[in-house]
Amino acid sequence: AKEKGKNQFQFFEWAMNHCQARRMNIEQALPAAIEEQAFHLVYQPMFNAEQGHLIGVETLVRWEHPVLGTISPCEFIPIAESTGHIIVLGEWILHKACKQMKEWHDAGLPRIPVAVNFSVIQFNQDLIVDMIIGALEQTGLDAKYLIAEMTESMAMQHNEAIIGKLHALKRLGVSISIDDFGTGYSSLCYLRRFPIDTLKIDKSFVQDVSGAGEDTAIVEAIIAMARSLKLRVLAEGVETEQQSERLCQLGCTDMQGYWHSRPLSIPQFEQTYLSAAYL
Ligand code: C2E
Ligand code: CA
Ligand code: CA
Ligand code: CA
Repeated sequence: AKEKGKNQFQFFEWAMNHCQARRMNIEQALPAAIEEQAFHLVYQPMFNAEQGHLIGVETLVRWEHPVLGTISPCEFIPIAESTGHIIVLGEWILHKACKQMKEWHDAGLPRIPVAVNFSVIQFNQDLIVDMIIGALEQTGLDAKYLIAEMTESMAMQHNEAIIGKLHALKRLGVSISIDDFGTGYSSLCYLRRFPIDTLKIDKSFVQDVSGAGEDTAIVEAIIAMARSLKLRVLAEGVETEQQSERLCQLGCTDMQGYWHSRPLSIPQFEQTYLSAAYL
């Protein structure tokens, strides 16, 4: 038994070292990857499921590492946040996304907005609003076609500076979405103080509305709350037809997820939404 305990300990130690080594690898590779633009963006359509039309596109960042393979943003974004690289990377992402959407509008795509994920770290920067204004000016995208997505976090709660920056963005015409809604530190008070346009219902709750009799209480509560605060509501992570239909019945018709479309590469997006058949 003692021997077994020792082996287990060695395994955990190995696993921990392995994780730390991977983290260090990623951390060390980040600056060069940013320099070499080793990242690319994919685009996931958002739909009004009732009318069946496109209402926007969310950009999601991808990193193809020559040795480590595809690294999920769930893994490298938190590392980029802790090292501060998220500032430069986030600016690059915003530029790319705005430029792409401007190009698609010019090519005849219906004037839908692009949603870009922001880290709260970016909003601690004094120059974040100027950076966003700069990206819009340099790419020629009108502010009304940009949605800033942010997850609720403790860091946002009583942060007057961040609230001020969000109001400045609102005045410019940028929309604000709260990502992963329901999983964070949401309080009703902050919902009133933040200039929010849309609540994105987290996919963990969407999974609960799969069929008749499934648990829909949280989703119903969020929809009711959004309605009373006059906010839009969008369900993310919709994977099945049943979920889509159930959400429509519950009054949430804006949605996003694998059922309607996976995140698409630029050529994939163009093949579908810039083709003669769609336009
Ligand atoms: P998120 O913003 O909540 O993005 C939604 C995630 O769910 C994406 O994962 C997307 O590919 C995935 N997804 C979409 N539809 C479905 C579905 O039907 N079922 C399931 N199970 N998943 C679905 P992804 O691309 O791996 O991104 C993970 C997270 O990484 C994002 O979560 C976001 O928090 C962060 N992230 C991604 N791109 C960026 C970025 O450009 N900047 C920042 N700051 N964070 C980003
Ligand atoms: Ca998001
Ligand atoms: Ca989300
Ligand atoms: Ca998320």
